[in-house]
Amino acid sequence: MAGRKPEWLKIKLDTGKNFKELKSMMRGQTLHTVCEEARCPNLYECWANRTATFMILGDTCTRACRFCAVKTGLPTELDLAEPERVAEATEQMGLRHVVVTSVARDDLGDGGASIFAETIRAIRRRTPLCSVEVLIPDFLGDWEALRVVMDAKPDILNHNVETVERLSDRVRSKAKYDRTMALLAEAKRMAPSIPTKSSIMIGVGETVDEIITTMDDLRRVDVDILTIGQYLQPTAKHLKVEKYYHPDEFAQLKEEGLARGFKHVESGPLVRSSYHAHEQVESAAES
Ligand code: SF4
Ligand code: SF4
Repeated sequence: MAGRKPEWLKIKLDTGKNFKELKSMMRGQTLHTVCEEARCPNLYECWANRTATFMILGDTCTRACRFCAVKTGLPTELDLAEPERVAEATEQMGLRHVVVTSVARDDLGDGGASIFAETIRAIRRRTPLCSVEVLIPDFLGDWEALRVVMDAKPDILNHNVETVERLSDRVRSKAKYDRTMALLAEAKRMAPSIPTKSSIMIGVGETVDEIITTMDDLRRVDVDILTIGQYLQPTAKHLKVEKYYHPDEFAQLKEEGLARGFKHVESGPLVRSSYHAHEQVESAAES
């Protein structure tokens, strides 16, 4: 067990004017942002930098990962107007980079791929200069569904490995380590020019060697961008934190990642998948 939360993780959510404005805009749109719902520590910084993460396809997930606070159950709704609302909010919020993610919808034939694709297109129509990243579920290995998303040409295709191979089945629900690697390989094969990205959440019982092996596995399928962040237990019922890594250890992991050929690595205690995402598009495009 990891003991008390260290100082570097104690942050206070800044709720200044910019934040309040964006928040009231969100209320008007009946949309969900991961930024708010996960009480992301980076919210103020991201929104001030005009980056936000929308969660589409409802608020109920068909899976129940042990680290995740999203509600689990059998969703009933499929909101076909959602892509347009996300695009409208993106425009109103003046976003420069938008991340679109979803709960896992294993109940839908295409896992929600067509709604992802339509959301990308709707954002492009309204705000052609805003870069669009999709953080997708694994579609249970349905590569036709993946193709629907790739054909809509996101600026970044993101799919999280979340943890090392040994802990994958324990930490994630239904997702498979090998299937994650296969999805990332397939995305690159379908559209080599679209940067791929993945995230590792550390502090759930992995070793540093296992983190490095996961990096090697991600590079083997040509992943371009890596993010590494500290796992924080959302409620007492969730998976316990086994270790709080020191910022110096995160810096060391960043060096290991860059040495392995990732074009961009964000590694830090409060790094989340979409943190500094706008810079990631730029560095992936420059390389
Ligand atoms: Fe939102 Fe992602 Fe930024 Fe957190 S890191 S505030 S989820 S965009
Ligand atoms: Fe949370 Fe995604 Fe797992 Fe669903 S699939 S429980 S949204 S991490």
